[in-house]
Amino acid sequence: MGTDQQAGFFGSFGGSFIPPELQQAMDYLTEQFEKYKDDPDFIEEYQYYLKEYVGRDNPLTYAKHLSEKLGGAKIYLKREDLNHTGSHKINNVLGQILLAKRMGAKRVIAETGAGQHGVATATVCAMFGMECVIYMGAEDTRRQALNVFRMELLGAKVVPVNKGQGRLKDAVDEALGDLVANYKNTFYLLGSAVGPHPFPTMVKHFQSIISEESKRQIIEKEGRLPDAVIACVGGGSNGIGSFAHYIDEPSVRLIGVEPDQAPTLTQGVPGMLHGFKCLVLLDEQGEPRKTYSIAAGLDYPGIGPEHSYLKESGRAEYYAVSNEEVLEAFQVLSRTEGIIPALESAHAVAYALKLGPTLSHDQVLIVNLSGRGDKDVEQVFEMLKEKK
Ligand SMILES: *Cc1c(COP(=O)(O)O)cnc(C)c1O
Repeated sequence: MGTDQQAGFFGSFGGSFIPPELQQAMDYLTEQFEKYKDDPDFIEEYQYYLKEYVGRDNPLTYAKHLSEKLGGAKIYLKREDLNHTGSHKINNVLGQILLAKRMGAKRVIAETGAGQHGVATATVCAMFGMECVIYMGAEDTRRQALNVFRMELLGAKVVPVNKGQGRLKDAVDEALGDLVANYKNTFYLLGSAVGPHPFPTMVKHFQSIISEESKRQIIEKEGRLPDAVIACVGGGSNGIGSFAHYIDEPSVRLIGVEPDQAPTLTQGVPGMLHGFKCLVLLDEQGEPRKTYSIAAGLDYPGIGPEHSYLKESGRAEYYAVSNEEVLEAFQVLSRTEGIIPALESAHAVAYALKLGPTLSHDQVLIVNLSGRGDKDVEQVFEMLKEKK
């Protein structure tokens, strides 16, 4: 695709624009990732835990009732919701913690906003007996008290950050400060396909298991490739993982779906965010715009550099859906298939509800079900009550 992955550039996006002391830590990480990613022992260990701990392969389920109801394409669901801890996030945190172990790290740090990435990180730290420190904005620790409790239950230390506005951005700053001071024995575990090189490349590497499996499974079931793959995009990790093995298959449409209240790919402009170049939503002052999504995992004003490049080059398409459409999709999938999707994943389902009926019976869609909706049921209950 003409991307220079060595330097971490995807067209003009990506790269690493950070202070020298942090660059030193990133260079070290890049070198170690390159060293281990193709190492047969490392691959064997990753595959062992994907099977025995995460529960992979997960199924590619034919959504028969939904497909019949829509009257168009055959819709398949890639079931990341069935993974241990209930989403695709485990694929990435598992890969990174195995790398941390190989690198001899003694502690793992991460930052979290709503808490989902913090919980995933605390989970693998518990599994591998690694000290775990999670930075979280003080305001967020109050709003997400239950996720703080989950992380503590898993043995992590949650550090509330009072600086600034006490939000995710301030937690990132604290975590980076910790990394600069301690990078020789500390591993910074990043949750999405964003940030300076090598993170977007590394996170894609570990999430690519999604499309590696789905490609094999769809060929077994249908004897051919899908016509389109649909995924929701926040930072872009489940999206890039679901697309990865189809990027060089031009017959497969790649479709990313975002909230219309955080429309980074449909309305963003090239810019810089958190040390890398990507499409970014700016306000009139040229600052990253405040976003609001009902799905906490999609609430981010930037997007991974490879998605920015796939959009610019026209290889992938991106659409925004409304809260109304997402709430509808959340209920339709629950009712027709007995699967309650995460609100994030319901964005992908919402677009499938629009696209499916326009296609013919012999066409095939894969929707990546990035997570399960148990965590969102209470919120949807409140939202539906308000609408009545
Ligand atoms: C975190 C999360 C997302 C968004 O993150 P990406 O990096 O864009 O994949 C999507 N779905 C679920 C269920 C999540 O937990």
